[in-house]
Amino acid sequence: MVEKILPGLFRIVLPLSGNPLREINSFVFTSNDRNLIVDTGMNREECLEAMEAGLDEIGVDLERTDILATHLHADHQGLVATLLREGSRAFMGERDVEVINGSGDYWTESGPMGQLAIKAGFPADVLRASLENHPGFKYGPQVPVDFVGLKDGETIGIGDYTLQVVLTPGHTDGHICLYEPNAKILLSGDHVLGDITPNLQAWGDDEDPLGDFLTSLARVDALDIDLCLPGHRALVENCSQRIAELVEHHRMRADEVVEILDQGPRNAYDTAGRMTWDIVAPSWDDFPIMQRWFATGESIAHIRYMEVQGRIERDFVDGQTLYRSVARP
Ligand SMILES: [Zn+2]
Repeated sequence: MVEKILPGLFRIVLPLSGNPLREINSFVFTSNDRNLIVDTGMNREECLEAMEAGLDEIGVDLERTDILATHLHADHQGLVATLLREGSRAFMGERDVEVINGSGDYWTESGPMGQLAIKAGFPADVLRASLENHPGFKYGPQVPVDFVGLKDGETIGIGDYTLQVVLTPGHTDGHICLYEPNAKILLSGDHVLGDITPNLQAWGDDEDPLGDFLTSLARVDALDIDLCLPGHRALVENCSQRIAELVEHHRMRADEVVEILDQGPRNAYDTAGRMTWDIVAPSWDDFPIMQRWFATGESIAHIRYMEVQGRIERDFVDGQTLYRSVARP
């Protein structure tokens, strides 16, 4: 599906079958000189077919087209290697480029993420299946891409548009949004989404992605935005209102985590099993494996935030990190 949003700006909706996200938005800027594709879909046949059909309909020549990924997730950059032509450039936030380039043992049980999952209480079989089935592992680009790392405040000119890079860590450490001050549009990637909540994952003890995310939301909220173009689902008309809803959602989730730990120390996996989720399943053990993975990463993000706030402390017992709530200061 192709939709014209503004002169020289189109949306192509790409399907993500079997994924709770359902679809991803790719935004395409066209001009007489160069074109720019923002976010590509996964490295899957169905995404490539929809992308090629959409580009055809708009009349985009890939030989004159650069590609930008708002962040490193496979649904946003999985097809970059396939679509990129010689002499064209691929962009991503510089921090996410660093992470991708240093991700050698990322998908192994002995890598930093696997080790943290074991400390978080992940059963060994669930961990193995999670890493093997992770979309980042399955649907990322098959060959490495030489990304140009973008810094906060850099601009990219395309036709009548000047896109400003706004660094928005949270959903990923190097996530970027693109702001166009004259058109008052924000390409928000997975930083602001309309009818779903951007997933936050913490797989490092020194990270505070929820804290970063809230700071980045405030940053975007200070911009004058008429229309927000998110990475998934419907366009967001009232960005400021949506940001307020997201802040409130995470405040409630962070309180919920503390309430769960008020009842006694737990690891992150068990804490996630007691949190409120949209998924309909008879019990935590019946959650699809990947959803248990993302839920646990999300619970760690909220635990870490409250740990930084001084509301949660941790002990390391028998190879696992156990968290407990501490009285309000
Ligand atoms: Zn994402």
